[in-house]
Amino acid sequence: MSAAVVRDLLIYPIKSTAGISMPQASILTSGLAGDRRYLITKPDGTFVTGRTHPKITAITCQYRVQLITLSHEDVSDLTLNPTDFHDQYLDTCVWGTNMIGQECGQTADTWISELLGEPLKLLYFGDRSERFVKQHPENDVSFADGFPLLLIGDGSLTELNNRLLAPVAMANFRPNITISGTSPFEEDGWSQIRIGDVRFELPAPCARCVFTTVDPYAHVADKVIEPLKTLTRFRKEVDSNNVMFGENMIPIDTGTVRIGDPVEVLKTKSKPVYIDNWQPQSSRLSNHLSPKASSNFNKTPVLLRCVQVIDETPDVKTFKFTADPVQRFDYKPGQFLTLYVPINGTTVSRCYTISSSPSRPDLLSVTVKRVSGGTVSNWLHDHVTVGSSLEASGPSGVFHLQEKQNRKLLMISGGSGITPMLSMTRFMADIGLNYDVCFHHSAQTPVDLIAWQELSLLAHQLPDLHLSYNTSKGSPTSTADGQGFEGRLSSEIIKKICPDLLEREVFVCGPDGYMSATKELLFGLGLPKDKYNQESFSIEPLPLPDDASSASYNIVFAESGITAEIRGNQTVLDAAEAAGIEVSYSCRAGICGTCKSDIKSGDIQASNAMGLSDEDSTDGRFLPCCSYAKSDLVVDL
Ligand SMILES: Cc1cc2nc3c(=O)[nH]c(=O)nc-3n(C[C@H](O)[C@H](O)[C@H](O)COP(=O)(O)OP(=O)(O)OC[C@H]3O[C@@H](n4cnc5c(N)ncnc54)[C@H](O)[C@@H]3O)c2cc1C
Repeated sequence: MSAAVVRDLLIYPIKSTAGISMPQASILTSGLAGDRRYLITKPDGTFVTGRTHPKITAITCQYRVQLITLSHEDVSDLTLNPTDFHDQYLDTCVWGTNMIGQECGQTADTWISELLGEPLKLLYFGDRSERFVKQHPENDVSFADGFPLLLIGDGSLTELNNRLLAPVAMANFRPNITISGTSPFEEDGWSQIRIGDVRFELPAPCARCVFTTVDPYAHVADKVIEPLKTLTRFRKEVDSNNVMFGENMIPIDTGTVRIGDPVEVLKTKSKPVYIDNWQPQSSRLSNHLSPKASSNFNKTPVLLRCVQVIDETPDVKTFKFTADPVQRFDYKPGQFLTLYVPINGTTVSRCYTISSSPSRPDLLSVTVKRVSGGTVSNWLHDHVTVGSSLEASGPSGVFHLQEKQNRKLLMISGGSGITPMLSMTRFMADIGLNYDVCFHHSAQTPVDLIAWQELSLLAHQLPDLHLSYNTSKGSPTSTADGQGFEGRLSSEIIKKICPDLLEREVFVCGPDGYMSATKELLFGLGLPKDKYNQESFSIEPLPLPDDASSASYNIVFAESGITAEIRGNQTVLDAAEAAGIEVSYSCRAGICGTCKSDIKSGDIQASNAMGLSDEDSTDGRFLPCCSYAKSDLVVDL
């Protein structure tokens, strides 16, 4: 007898919504009781699912016998009770089988329509609804794709994950029964099994579609169609385009199954043969063993795949990413990237410092602090998990270690402003740069110290790395390494941690108020202006250049084939938009570098082009968002 046991039992009350794990479930002829009893349709009865409407996967359900309560963060809850529904049915069709579904009423229709932003209806599999399994008309089925149940063994998921850059979850595949204790694809060879009192036929494997690529936590479709792309490389049928993962099941008996029930294999079948052209070279491990070229992700955005999430403090997380497809990241320690995040159907961009070190180019990390009421920081915290993918462009920024760096540094950071200092310190430790560094961090309480244990270890490796911190609210703790001070950062603290301040190059990053107070302290202690560097995390609208004129010039947008007029007090980005040209941008303040383009001829002034490297400027690149015309221009937009 196999060691296989039931690991999880899941129902999906509405087709495509999130699953509910049940300790035990009743098996009806149509599948698990409560599974796929509701369907979302257009007003004409055409059903919609998470394939086209990924937001449906973010609807969670609570299930109590007949009642279900639907929840989504954008709307208040909706409770549905079939006894309230009128005897009114609508024609619908699920994957080729015509049937009727009972209407759930106006309140339900309004709820789902408002949530998904278009006119929709909710249908229930009512007493008069009837549907049968296509190839087995003797068996009934509800609104499920084709069969009453789907089973997947843990071993199969593990095997798939071994081939992916980052693992996906069982939730990507929406099974009803998952099994532990099986070898990879052991279930391919099962024809009849018994779980508890119930026997099941396994008539066919399940052909997978693009729905498997909807991230079950971020609720967006994967940009490079994973895990389907990888499945296609080793689970594709020889004589069709079907890609198989999981086994469809039909109950022979009714009864109860429970988590932990053993799975008894009653009949076997020969395993299907799949086309297997998967190349081990596409795995992350082989990338490490035979490195590929570095990624120059400032020309086109790169897809990042999350491979690790670290809880740094109660409101700070680090997200580690690999590039998909794998390539190495090239940036300077202290630079930042722009993340593009899909929120409610639109793409929102924000800048985040790369907190990892370029000396470890296979991974890139960002360390993000939740901002109260903030759009992107909270979305990242709440939705990005291992396997999620996001687009990013960059690197940008001039707040980084320089080639001819003064070897004596003072780094001062507040809150999430520690991120560029983390990258710089990790870099120094990795490549053995034994600079003389005073690293001071300001946190609210000792619990809010970010990556402090790691920094303490680095301070043991680097004899000239001196850590200190101050806590504005709680008292310093004896468990945190480095000199701790209570209260706000002051001249006295700076003098104590860094008596030779005037010999040092100073890097400061933190909230704007913190930075201006720190700058005042440093200048008050005599620090010359040219030794002070700072990075602001807030993007201020650009002031007009003092000598901006209202003179008009001609501007040729060469790529779009449009000639227009540009005033001297108008940015090239504004002029492009006025001419109907779509330019991708993020900060509109010369910081992020997202709108970087080529200038072919003409003079511009762009005093705030911080997102441009020296190399970019030499290569004739410019930032339309902060560039003003000083003559006629020809640009590559
Ligand atoms: C170069 C650079 C590097 C950065 N690096 C990091 C980093 O390493 N780590 C990090 O955590 N952050 C970093 N940031 C900050 C980051 O880009 C975001 O600004 C931050 O995460 C907040 O974004 P958000 O979308 O969560 O907040 P937003 O939605 O932009 O909101 C910001 C604030 O405005 C308020 N707000 C939003 N909308 C409204 C409204 N309609 N009316 C009134 N108030 C409103 C919010 O309540 C919140 O307090 C960096 C920024 C820059 C420019």
